[in-house]
Amino acid sequence: MAMHRQKKKFVPPTKKERATALGEIDDLDEDIRRALTIAIDECFPSIPIPDEDAWLSEHYEAGQTVKQFERLRKSQPSPTCNIIYIQPFEDFNGPRSPNLNIICDFSHIFFPGCQTEILPSVEFDSKTKQRINQYTKQPQYFVPNIMNQLKKMQRKRHKREELFSIGVTMVDIYPNPNWNFVYGEASIDEGIAIYSFARFDPLFPHTSLESYTNEEQVLVLRRAVSTYIHEVMHLFGFEHCIYYLCLMNGTNCENEMDGQLLYLCPICLKKLYILFRKQNFNILHMYENLLELSRKIGFQQETIWYENRLRLLNQDL
Ligand SMILES: [Zn+2]
Ligand SMILES: [Zn+2]
Repeated sequence: MAMHRQKKKFVPPTKKERATALGEIDDLDEDIRRALTIAIDECFPSIPIPDEDAWLSEHYEAGQTVKQFERLRKSQPSPTCNIIYIQPFEDFNGPRSPNLNIICDFSHIFFPGCQTEILPSVEFDSKTKQRINQYTKQPQYFVPNIMNQLKKMQRKRHKREELFSIGVTMVDIYPNPNWNFVYGEASIDEGIAIYSFARFDPLFPHTSLESYTNEEQVLVLRRAVSTYIHEVMHLFGFEHCIYYLCLMNGTNCENEMDGQLLYLCPICLKKLYILFRKQNFNILHMYENLLELSRKIGFQQETIWYENRLRLLNQDL
């Protein structure tokens, strides 16, 4: 992930740069080739010109072409190594916690051939440092200690089939004493990560025990799903996307996150296809499953997007 201060303004990529990033598609199967070429301008808008708080105004992103992704040394899913563990820390039964089973459902669809399993919830190790945040007056837990705990649990399981272990928590976390907070942190080499959903609650830090309104529930779940998928894709070697509005765009805050839909642009989709083609990746099944799930849980924008995309892809066959 490139983190250098950007010297000049983000310039959206040209048609030619997008075509270079996508690379050759003539040899691909018909379904995926159609998904990468039909009605692209209609379905995949550009990233909006970033305002000054936006990720792209603060970070330089070079973009990662499909070719660069293919050359990368990265975790490869295979029939003998395909388990993604979701490890909840502390309580996830509260009325304001996102439903982990739904995150798991999305994981199955986005990462075909991988098994995603939710492990029993654990408490933070008693040695985990914590503090009360000076602004929110809420407790926060120290990321390096949590990462160590994840590593220890991973060693203890000693499962050759394990790809990644993704810690999730409703408690706020911080990466070092000088930082106010962090949404999460990953170690790509070790295949572990920790993400906090605490700040996805629109009432944070005044999170009461009341149940969500329907609208809040969908909002928080959408943020949690989008974070989970985006971060697992980083573990698979995906870098931030600059080519279109896409689930792999970098984001600075919840507002930016809410502006992305849960879909991948053609360039990121081709990378996903390359990663999973040996595991029977089928783009139409993926879209149908995403449509069905989005409809079931009330992700309205995604329902409209996938409905339209499938209609276009199934036309004139
Ligand atoms: Zn990211
Ligand atoms: Zn993309």
